[in-house]
Amino acid sequence: MIYLDHAAATPVDKRVLEAMEPYFTEDFFNPSAAYLPAKKVAADYEAAKATIAHAIGAKASDLVITAGATEANNLAFTSIRNKGRALYLVTEHDSVRRVAEAYGGQEIKVLPSGLIDLADLKSKITDDTELISISLANNELGTIQPMAEISSIIRDVKLDRMKRGIKTQLLLHSDASQALNLLDINVARLGVDLLTLNAAKVYGPKGVGALYVSHDAKLAPLTLGGGQEQGLRSGTENVPGVIGFAKAVELAKKHLNGNRKKYIAWRQILLSELRGYELINKKHSLDNFVVLCYNGIDAERLIFLLEERGIYVATGAACAASKGMKSHVLRAIGLSSEQIAGSLRLTMGETNTEEQIHEAVAIINEIVAQESQRILK
Ligand code: PLP
Repeated sequence: MIYLDHAAATPVDKRVLEAMEPYFTEDFFNPSAAYLPAKKVAADYEAAKATIAHAIGAKASDLVITAGATEANNLAFTSIRNKGRALYLVTEHDSVRRVAEAYGGQEIKVLPSGLIDLADLKSKITDDTELISISLANNELGTIQPMAEISSIIRDVKLDRMKRGIKTQLLLHSDASQALNLLDINVARLGVDLLTLNAAKVYGPKGVGALYVSHDAKLAPLTLGGGQEQGLRSGTENVPGVIGFAKAVELAKKHLNGNRKKYIAWRQILLSELRGYELINKKHSLDNFVVLCYNGIDAERLIFLLEERGIYVATGAACAASKGMKSHVLRAIGLSSEQIAGSLRLTMGETNTEEQIHEAVAIINEIVAQESQRILK
């Protein structure tokens, strides 16, 4: 198998699994219990949260652990006091889009490059705007948004509001689900108030995520109950999940530069050896993303034929594809229906080797040539 869909899911690293194991068995105690072994589990849980937080320049107490990025994104929107006062990038993941729509949010446009249209952002911020949600890296294109530039615009708006005595909050949220193991993330540098993290995309367990919450952001609880996670996300802590997330983050930090170099080289191999494609994500992209379009060819069929040869790739976002919907992201950057129908997303990762990349190139070229022939007949 050659797996080129690491943006959809990553396998749990063996070292992550090993770190988690004791917390399913001998160290199973509820962190809220009063006896010593439970207190040790509570301390380990806090230490794991600190590891995750330090990786983004934050403290353990700034993090709310959630059951994945969808939940973290939903939690971020509870900071909104009044409906109709959120802005979000049109290319956001559905876990932001759907909740933003529910809060009466308004879309911000992107340029054909996939980057935010800063003029559109500026024109849509009003004195009422409370929350702006812009993912750090897009899950279909890998596009990295200029967060520092965005947060500087927001800082200017805040200053202006202060001068005019307007007290409405203005928070910046960013979904960094895809970026944690591919970019060096620091919340202060990014200038964000809220940041979503996802263990499932960084060789950690599925169903584990976190929301970084700055002191300025006041959220409403997602679940009511025992008061865990600063009262914002009640429920017995997922201790093995968080221990695994911390180990995954530690490994991601350690291998960040080495992995990036590897993916840049492999991306170059793909771009120079694949034939007959149009490159969609030309610039400003995560190093492991290659999004291609084969004009006139049905990518759904390509995926099926590639799977028969042991190669796993995606068309657009995996979740959008499974619902048979046309990608809203590819539409937003101005691709035609035909281009969207012929687009493939290859996302490299730690399961790959350079030999696999060469092998994938040969098979993709062969299948594409075969399909082109079939169409011509
Ligand atoms: N945000 C982004 C950018 C994603 O890529 C994903 C997963 O595909 C999610 C949010 C949702 O993550 P989860 O399904 O783990 O809640």
